Order: sequence, then C-alpha cells, then structure tokens
Amino acid sequence: MSKSSTTQRSTFANIVTTDVHTMNTHLLRCQICLNLHPVLQFKFFPCGHGFCTACIENIFSHNPKCPHCRVTLRRREAHVVYIDIPSPEEERAAKVETLVEGFAQMDRNSKLISVENAGKKLNAFVKEVEGGQDTYSSLLQAVEDFKERIIPAFRKAEEQAKEIETLKKKLEVCQHDLAGSVSRVKPLEKELGKMRSNLCQVEQERDQAIGLAEQASQETIRLRQRLARTEQEVHDLQAETKRYKEHLLQQANIARSQNKKIERLKKDSNKSKAQPTQENARSEVVLESEKSVTQSYDACEVDLEMPLTPSSSLERPLSTHANNVRHDFEAMPPPGGFRSDWQLPDKFSKKRKRDSENGRTDGFPLSLDTKGRPLRTVQLGTRRTLRAPLR
Ligand SMILES: [Zn+2]
Ligand SMILES: [Zn+2]
Repeated sequence: MSKSSTTQRSTFANIVTTDVHTMNTHLLRCQICLNLHPVLQFKFFPCGHGFCTACIENIFSHNPKCPHCRVTLRRREAHVVYIDIPSPEEERAAKVETLVEGFAQMDRNSKLISVENAGKKLNAFVKEVEGGQDTYSSLLQAVEDFKERIIPAFRKAEEQAKEIETLKKKLEVCQHDLAGSVSRVKPLEKELGKMRSNLCQVEQERDQAIGLAEQASQETIRLRQRLARTEQEVHDLQAETKRYKEHLLQQANIARSQNKKIERLKKDSNKSKAQPTQENARSEVVLESEKSVTQSYDACEVDLEMPLTPSSSLERPLSTHANNVRHDFEAMPPPGGFRSDWQLPDKFSKKRKRDSENGRTDGFPLSLDTKGRPLRTVQLGTRRTLRAPLR
C-alpha cells in the first residue's frame, strides 16, 4: 500500500496530501449509484472518472469499461486521490481574496456587466457568511454602498458613453450637412454681391431720377409762370381787340352817318343839276373822296393799330382803279400790295401793258428766290448793266 501510494503521488503531482480525517469527513457523490461516500472510498481511472469501490467491483464483474467515456478499464490502474480539502474558514478567506483581487482590477474602463457580476458575487458571499462574525458587517455595508452607488454610477457612465457615441454620429451628420450648406452658401454669397452692386447702381439711378424730377418741377414752375404771363398777355390782347372792335364800330357808325350825308348830298346835287357846272364838279370831287374813305374803312382789318387818317387824297389825281377804292393809308397795304407812286413815261407804261397782255414781264415786280436773288434778268440803271440770276 505504501509503495503504490508513492507512485500515485508522483503521477498526480498537483494533488496535495492532506490529513486523513478531512479526507474521511469530506463526501463525494458516486455517478453510478448516486450515493455519498467519503473521498477515500473512491477510486479514479486514467480517463479521469472515479466511482465508489462497490460500483467499481460491479463494473469489473461484468464489462470493464468506463460508463462515462467507454474506455477499457484495468483494475491495476484504479487509484485513490489525495486532495487538500480546505476548511470552511480557509474557503471563505480564499473567496474574499478573489473578490478583493477582482475589485482591485476594476476601473473606469470595466464593462458594466462585469461590475454587475462582481456585485452579485459579493452579495452572494456576504449572504453566505451572514449571521456570523462582526468582521463582515463592514463588508456588508460596503456591498450595500456598491449596490446603491457604484453600479448606478457605472450604469450611468455606460449610458453616457452610448449617448456620446450617438452624439458623435449626429455630429458627423451635422458636419456633413454643414459642409453641404457651406457649398450652397458660396453661390448665394456671389449672388448677394451681385445684388449689392445692382442696389448701388439702382440707388445712383434713383438719385439721378430725383435730380431730373427736381429739374422738371422747376421747369414746370417756370412754364407755369410763363403760361400765366402768356394768359395775361392774351387777356390784354383780347381787351385790346375789344377796344379796337369798339373803335371800328364807332368808325362804321361814322361811315354810315357819312353815307347818309352823301345820300342827302346826292339828292341835293340832283336837285341842283340845273346850276352852273363849276359848282357841280366841286361837289362831285368831295363825293368821290368821301366814298373812297368809306370803302377803305370797310376793307380794313381788326388789328389795325394806327388811326385811320386818309392821306392827301384830295391833292392827288383821282384813282383809275376799277372799283375806285384807294389804299393809300399808312400801315395798310391794299389787297394787291403797295403800289409805286413812280410816274413812268408814257412809252414804258404802254410797253408794260402790251407785255402783260402777251404774258410777258420784264422783271417788275421783282421775283426773288429764297435767298433773295432775282429769278429772271433784271435791268438796273442804264441799259448796259444787267443782273442775271445765278444758275
Ligand atoms: Zn457507487
Ligand atoms: Zn471514464
């Protein structure tokens, strides 16, 4: 027994021999008969499986194969295990050490799940040792503190980390959007610059337009003043016209009264036909002159300005005009224009009369072009000097 136990110790070097008492008090469950037996009543095979001695005898009496992994078993390979089973105090101390090591490794980078698991382990361990020593009361308090403070803090930290991730993603989206917005803003800025320059131009044009409008209003004021003056002048002219009309009416009345007088004189002359001829001739001269005056008044225009003063008609020979009307008032041209008072020799007048009957005129009256030059040959001075039209 002593030799075989030495061999088995060397085979299972990691198994530490402990006192027999512990090995006899500590129980294991047989996987075949499911009963609890002390550790020393078990035997193990190289496949790792071990059974109680009664069940091993049963296996070798039928089919020597492991009921777990079906490996062929040999009786000489069956051996006892010597394991160091700790006391409950030692077990608790070891658990505490494990927990302390686990907490010492925990920091801010630890996952929430591992922190929660550590909390659960701590809680279970404290419950296991509850109702015992005072040394664990502070540990219990620490567990409560851990549950109340640290786990929520870690949970919050993890939520915040998730939130930060979400915010980072949103920030990336926002940055992308911002880049897009910046690219859209650039054309708008150009547009804005154009619109500003247009605005400047429009303002300049507006100022110009305001200046023009002011000029136009001043011009309008001037024109209105001029219009008022013109209206005043028209008014004055109308008044003057009225005055002339009245004057003309007066003259017409005078002429009418003179006509009546002439009629009376005619009658008188008819009565006195039997009287000497010298007297008769004188009265006829007077009659003729007065008649011509009347006809001249009838022919004169409204805007006659000078007083109607007959010139020395009595000193002149009587006119040979067809209707016997004389137009010798100052500033009063007759219908055919002013006539010359020149008395040409008889031969010239005869010649002109002959020419006019034949449709010919020798330059009298002068016919001029727009620049005042004669249109046909004109004789001036002696017969040798001729002034011909420029062709
Ligand atoms: Zn058994
Ligand atoms: Zn086995």
